[in-house]
Amino acid sequence: MVRPDIAPANASALQRGRRSPVIILYPQIAPPGGPRAVHVPDTRTPGGTAVIIRDLFDRLLDLLFPDRCVACGCAGVLLCARCRAGLRPYPPEAPPAGLDGMAVGWLYEGAIRQAIHRMKYTGMRRVAAPLGDLLAERLRAAPLPADALMAVPLHAGRLAERGFNQSEELAARIAQRCGLPLVPGLARCRDTGHQASLGRRARKGNVEGAFIWAIHAQPPARVLIVDDVLTTGATLAACADALRAAGTREVRAVALARSLAPDAKAPRARI
Ligand SMILES: [Zn+2]
Repeated sequence: MVRPDIAPANASALQRGRRSPVIILYPQIAPPGGPRAVHVPDTRTPGGTAVIIRDLFDRLLDLLFPDRCVACGCAGVLLCARCRAGLRPYPPEAPPAGLDGMAVGWLYEGAIRQAIHRMKYTGMRRVAAPLGDLLAERLRAAPLPADALMAVPLHAGRLAERGFNQSEELAARIAQRCGLPLVPGLARCRDTGHQASLGRRARKGNVEGAFIWAIHAQPPARVLIVDDVLTTGATLAACADALRAAGTREVRAVALARSLAPDAKAPRARI
């Protein structure tokens, strides 16, 4: 949804007509000289042709093989009602240091884990739609104050490898559903490799200074960053540092899933 006081910043991306996220930039924060003076890294089009072919192939498969639930395999939709009902909500928790607020949807297990794996590791981009819808529903029930959405950026190398940024796909869906603009400008300037094998302290050191605000215009005052899986929060804190250095006042985050700490008590499934 486009608010009347904001205008498309990257018209070429919108005109390409692929399932591109809605990219909006506040005109009042555009630098002198107009949009051409703004360097917006286009993080959605690495390896252009390969991505288009993958999308076309994906659509062809849609026609030949109707959707099946990525978790239980039942026919009809990508994430069925039964599997959605079995998801266990992540318990409320104080945000990690560096964030003003945080919402995590579900425990990183079962159907949500399978769906995230299908999206990230088998290139099944369209799974982002039902996952984004779930997260939007969660945000509508318990909103977080925000002027705009941003996605945790991937490094160019990883983006080229995967063909899309899963967090941006989720953020684009939430933008559609919640009527918030998805704003570009946050960039990863250093490849931080895989965080999974690192401990808490090493993760923090690994991502410190890895993000920058890459355009001249000031970022929105209140930003909600979208991530897929939250671990220690070190990546989000590093994103928040970059945004605050550029002028953002409040940074919150929303993530699809997180593993429960070993000593925490697991909640029951929502029926
Ligand atoms: Zn299912």
